[in-house]
Amino acid sequence: MITFLSGGTGTPKLLLGMRELMDESDISVIVNTAEDLWMSGNYLSPDIDTVIYLFAGILDTQRWWGIEGDTYATHEEIRRHGGEEYLAIGDRDRAVHILRGEMLRRGLRLTECTTSISRIFGVRAQVLPMSDTAVNTIISTPEGEMHFQEYWVRFRGEPKVLRVHRRFEAPPITTGEALSTIAESAAVVIGPSNPVTSIMPILECRGIKEAMKGKTVVAVSPFMGDRPFSGPAAPLMRAWGLEPTAMDTYRLYRGIATLFIQDVRDPYRIKGAYAMDTLMSDRKKSIDLAEEILQLVEQGG
Ligand code: GDP
Repeated sequence: MITFLSGGTGTPKLLLGMRELMDESDISVIVNTAEDLWMSGNYLSPDIDTVIYLFAGILDTQRWWGIEGDTYATHEEIRRHGGEEYLAIGDRDRAVHILRGEMLRRGLRLTECTTSISRIFGVRAQVLPMSDTAVNTIISTPEGEMHFQEYWVRFRGEPKVLRVHRRFEAPPITTGEALSTIAESAAVVIGPSNPVTSIMPILECRGIKEAMKGKTVVAVSPFMGDRPFSGPAAPLMRAWGLEPTAMDTYRLYRGIATLFIQDVRDPYRIKGAYAMDTLMSDRKKSIDLAEEILQLVEQGG
């Protein structure tokens, strides 16, 4: 068993390769939920949905979210009636959000909802939310504070980022299921996801860092040179006083990751890090990187 810490794009690209090389039931994924939100009465867990759809083989891998070939009849109708829905939610995707919202209203934990939805799609990998309680990544901008999805989707990442912080009623705690899966795993892989909005929310959950102590923990940089491969990581890293580089990611994960992978194209080498081609532009490149990482895990570094 290997446990992956994942957001909704970079790490799922790596999982695409991993599922070709490992038995799916030996893959466990602890997923960021700090981008979750209620919309039109339903519960969206964008990163969890991406990971489930990936294993189900129905993910739209052009956008890395949503279901391939989905239709948008309900979304268009809601917009026509003046609804505020700023995320283009597909009809089949929405069915999942409706089911999840119903399960949560009935009192199920997010972990139970996720297991149930994984079963519906025949997913054999274990997909787990980082926590069962709500936490959101909030972006402070000159126009005010907003949920990460508002910043990135509604306002297309245009507002200046002044501060990034988490909002919650109670500090999030790692679930018992996530702790057990780490305990059973030969290694933990911190995938190449956005450190500020995807990985740190997971690592901030109480109990997870302690659970990872003594394990082989491989972290993969989501940056090449001084920029992300995609997405808004650069201004978000800078808001934390960090540069969007492998070096600052390495510093952020110091004391947590035991092995660090940077991209071969980085203009500098981090002492002790492994350099690999981490650009997963197609399925083959995802498999190649996954293979190299598995070899590294087997050798223990
Ligand atoms: P989000 O939840 O959609 O924001 O996605 P993630 O946090 O999982 O992933 C976003 C990060 O993935 C960005 O910082 C990208 O730089 C990184 N990323 C995307 N594609 C690749 C890739 O092919 N290789 C690597 N190393 N990083 C990638």
